[in-house]
Amino acid sequence: MPFSSLGLTPALAAAMVQQQFSTPTPVQTGAIPPAVAGRDVLVCAQTGSGKTAAFALAVLQRWTPPAASGARRPQALVLVPTRELAVQVGGVLSTLARAAGLPAKISVVFGGVSINPQLMALRGGTDIVVATTGRLLDLVDHNALQLQHIRCLVLDEADRMLDLGFADELDRIDALLPKQHQSLLFSATYSAGVRQLAESRLREPVEITI
Ligand code: AMP
Repeated sequence: MPFSSLGLTPALAAAMVQQQFSTPTPVQTGAIPPAVAGRDVLVCAQTGSGKTAAFALAVLQRWTPPAASGARRPQALVLVPTRELAVQVGGVLSTLARAAGLPAKISVVFGGVSINPQLMALRGGTDIVVATTGRLLDLVDHNALQLQHIRCLVLDEADRMLDLGFADELDRIDALLPKQHQSLLFSATYSAGVRQLAESRLREPVEITI
């Protein structure tokens, strides 16, 4: 099955082919159609399954350009457990956006480094945020980011976020999001914690296990 039959725009389907990915992985075949249709999705799959491109394509397809006069406000939020993963996910989003000709502004923020450059970088607003949880909350506390216009939330490596003790931060972030939003949850394992998270956050999710 080619990328063009997953409900993606021709530009995004072509962007994957341009990256030398001619055929979707099983995660991509399963997750992309419901995700681009706006459904909640729960994916249990290992790293290396192509999950990053799966949610990146869905996030980019659902991106809408800011109004000519209006400020850029974050529409999509990708939460990850580590700064290394934040950088990696931001890179995939940027590469695909560029390849598809989408002028989306993508910001990557993580802890363990000075907050000031991140505060500066967010001044002009942003469309898509990739973040570790603690730094995201710090930036919200600094009024550098607002989460009330988020339409799509991705929880990447949810099991690792829980293992690292970020459950409380995930709860605090959830309270800042609009009630109606799409959630895409990715986890390598379906632990009790992940099940509880999925049951409390996802609405009638499409479940994909690889
Ligand atoms: P993941 O960590 O699950 O996002 O998997 C990432 C790896 O899968 C990277 O090496 C990607 O370049 C690769 N990948 C993503 N999509 C595809 C695809 N459709 N076909 C082959 N490899 C892919």
